Order: sequence, then C-alpha cells, then structure tokens
Amino acid sequence: MEKNCTSVWKECLEFFRDNLGESANYKAWFSPIKAVKLENSTLTIQVPSQFFCEYLEEHYVDLLRSAIKRTLGPEGRLEYAVIVDNTNHNNPFVVTSESGYRKETRNQPIAMPVPKQSQQLPDPFIIPGITKAKVNSQLNSSYSFDNFVEGECNRLARSVGYSIAEKPGKTGFNPLFLYSPVGLGKTHLMNAIGLQAKLNNPDLTVLYISSDLFTQQFSDAARNTDFKNKNKQKNDPKGSPDDDNKLGTINDFVHFYQHIDMLLIDDIHKLVEKPKTQDVFFQIFNQLHQSGKQIIISSDKPPVELQGIEQRLLSRFKWGLAAELQVPDVETRIAIMQKKLHSSGVEMPKEIIEYIAYSISTNVREMEGVLNALLAQSIYNKKTITMELARKMIDQIVHNSAKEISIDYIQKVICDHFNLEPSKIHTNTRRREIVIARQLAMFFAKKHTKNSLASIGAQCGKRDHATVLHACKTIQNLTETDKAFKGIVEELDKKIKN
Ligand code: ADP
Ligand code: MG
Repeated sequence: MEKNCTSVWKECLEFFRDNLGESANYKAWFSPIKAVKLENSTLTIQVPSQFFCEYLEEHYVDLLRSAIKRTLGPEGRLEYAVIVDNTNHNNPFVVTSESGYRKETRNQPIAMPVPKQSQQLPDPFIIPGITKAKVNSQLNSSYSFDNFVEGECNRLARSVGYSIAEKPGKTGFNPLFLYSPVGLGKTHLMNAIGLQAKLNNPDLTVLYISSDLFTQQFSDAARNTDFKNKNKQKNDPKGSPDDDNKLGTINDFVHFYQHIDMLLIDDIHKLVEKPKTQDVFFQIFNQLHQSGKQIIISSDKPPVELQGIEQRLLSRFKWGLAAELQVPDVETRIAIMQKKLHSSGVEMPKEIIEYIAYSISTNVREMEGVLNALLAQSIYNKKTITMELARKMIDQIVHNSAKEISIDYIQKVICDHFNLEPSKIHTNTRRREIVIARQLAMFFAKKHTKNSLASIGAQCGKRDHATVLHACKTIQNLTETDKAFKGIVEELDKKIKN
C-alpha cells in the first residue's frame, strides 16, 4: 500500500506513544500536530507556532529523527509548517529547524490592530499619575508555581502553563482553557502563570480578572455610554468634556483591554446567558489573539459542555489547548497539606494528615479549610490537634455532597485492619488475604459510594464490573456462612462510617 502523509504520521505517533506513553507530554506536544504533505520522502507536519517547533527540536529531536527514519527510511526528512489556525486569517508559513531538516517560508504577518490612544480609565486597575498607564495585575502572590504541588491530576496543565509563562502568546496554546469543578486549582494555576510570566519579563502587562468583575465593569461602561449619549442629544451641560473624562465608556473599556499582553479571565462560565458581555469579550479576544497576546481562560466545564455561550466564542476557545485539572490522588492531597503545614510552621501527626486526605477527596479548597480550622484551633485556642478534633472540623466544614466516603478511604481502613500496604490492592497477586481485602474494598465501595461497578473496578486494581459484582456476592455469602467473618465485616463497616 502506498504511504501518504496521514498514514506515515499515524505510524510516527504510535512510535511516540510507545516511547512516551499516553503522558502529558505526548498529549501536549504530539497530539496537536497534523501531517499536511508527503513529497519525495519529506513529511511536512503542521504545528501551531514557531515556539512549538523550537520546543520539539530542543526536546524531541532524537525521537523525531528515529520516527522519520523508521517510517520513511534513511532519505526521510521532516519539515514544519507553522500554521496559526485562526480560520479568519490563514497564515501559513514554514520555518527553520535546528535539526537540519529543510524549511521554507510562505506567508504573512497578521494585521495588527492599532490601538487608539485610550483616555485614562477611572478603573480600579489603573495606577493614576503615571504617563504610560500601568496596570495593576491583580495577581495573588501566594498562588505561585512554587506553592502549586504537581501531580498526575495537573501535569499537562502545569507544564503547558509553565511554557506559556516563558513565551506568552507564542506557544500555540492560545488560548489556554483550564477546566475543572470548583476547588481544584484553576485560579491558583492561572495566577502562577501570570506571576511567572512577570518574573520572566517585568514589563509584561498581565491582568487577572474574574468574569464577574469583567461583567460589572462592562455594564458600568455601558451605562456611562448611554448617559453621555443622552446628555449629548439633550445638549445638557452635564455632558461637558469634564464629565467625559471621569466616566469610562465602552470604547475606553475595550481600549483598556487592548493593551494587555496576558489576559487571565477566571470562571468564564459566569458569562453564560449574558450575550452583551460575551459580545464585548469576543471583540477583545479577537484583538488580543490577532496581536499575538496570550489569553488564559478558566471554566467549570470543557468548551463542548458550555451551554449558553455563543458558538463563535466556543470555537475560539478550542483554538489553543483545553486542559483539565483532575481530582488529585491521595499522595498529591497529602503533599498539598504538607506544603501548607510547612509554611505555617505547625506540626501535625501523620495519621491526622492522612485521615483528612482520605476523607476529603474531591475538593482541595475544602481540604485546606479543614486544615486552616485545625491550625487556628492549635495556634489561637492552644488546643492539641487530635483525631477527634480533626473529625469534628471535617463534619463542620465539609459540604455534605463532598463528604461521601471515598474509595481511597475504604481501602485504607481495610488495609490498616489487615496490616497490608494499600498499594497491594492494586496488584495482580492471588494471595488469599489480598484477594479478600480487595473484595471487601469493592463490597464497601458499592455499599457506601455512588460509584458505578465499572468505576469501582477501575479503582480497585483495574478490574471490570463483573469482577466487582462477583466480589460483592462472595462477601455477602461469607457473611452469611461464617460468623467470625461477619464480625470483621461489621467492625470494618463501623470504622468506615466512623
Ligand atoms: P478553583 O479555582 O479550581 O476553584 P482554586 O485555585 O481556588 O480552585 O484552589 C482552591 C485551593 O486549593 C487554593 O487555596 C489552592 O491554593 C489550593 N490548591 C489547589 N490545587 C493545588 C495544588 N496542586 N497545589 C497546591 N495548592 C492547591
Ligand atoms: Mg477559581
């Protein structure tokens, strides 16, 4: 069968996947690439930016070389086409590569909008009295990369965010769209990217803004514009130039955003069903994106699930990269707490840290809430931090929905009881006590959590739903026939429910 660019690239991707696994790096740097041409043993691949191509050359040149040799033989060559996929302006040009692969240049710069000189806005972000308006970034300095614990749950988003901070607007990850349910680190990570970008380049104009504040600023500006127009029509003396300078209009609002180099807009789902605010955001987005400025957006859902946001905006959100922040695993949750404890200088027994991490699995903010409450009790009320106190704080603070017993916690209670390493549950061993522990974990997960059989199986040693069903029946049978076993099950049940 004759090879074409797609089949060759498909083979290359398999080779990369073999070498890198389905890792964050594979997803970030290889999945977005498309093959566009195969001619005289030269494969042309489309990458989203020059930085992207430089990054590949710097980090993966050997891997790329081996893949091309394997698929196209010793004559094989690779060429990059940098295509800014903005649909509204085709901008293909092919670039130089360090690795000795051929290059060519085809096309053209993007038209840069020339921002009009903006009047100084009566805006909370402008520090008055400086000729070149200086924007207060509104970044939270404690939300740095240093304080952001890395785990499997955030590896892709974190590494892409780090690259963006090095080359804002030039990575192909524009916009970066971060999504997750509440409390999993979106605001923290966006701030970290902004802080790091400022560290790398203090002159960069970065702005962090919540969608709520953006909406409020916009509606103030819209009201002021209406007010002025009416007064002008009436020829009212109130519409004098003096007032013009005090009240920001929609034009001022848009111009203010035009000179931002990195815009971090948090919780974009709050713009749902607000068509006018979406309209103005669309305008700002286009202007920034076309001038190569970086945009980072966060949302509680991925773009495809954001109902009530205009299609033209959603399609733009997909231009860059949508990265999910997942629920951190128990080790990451423990590491997050340890980091926080370390900076507070308070010591806490390891079992209590573990107990909190096992009890609160779906929301880092709530976990921190419990930790803060315990620290306050210890520092201000001079109370000793005990398991009892930890339990009480969890009951007081944690939202009922999140208080569902986690599978991690069930496994921990069972393994503690049998004196086993929790990781043993995930192995393939047929040792009787481990098989029983695994079956008990499945049984209690079915009893106390809302997880599906498939999800329980996946979390208990990657088994399928039929195995979980079988485990539940086995445990049920054993409790009915073996009195001693029944006693153990009841004791475990009590411990799990506290
Ligand atoms: P979101 O914006 O997704 O609702 P936040 O960014 O506000 O979540 O995070 C909630 C809290 O959890 C913050 O205090 C944040 O510092 C902390 N947090 C979340 N993920 C991490 C992490 N990986 N490392 C350290 N702290 C984290
Ligand atoms: Mg947030």
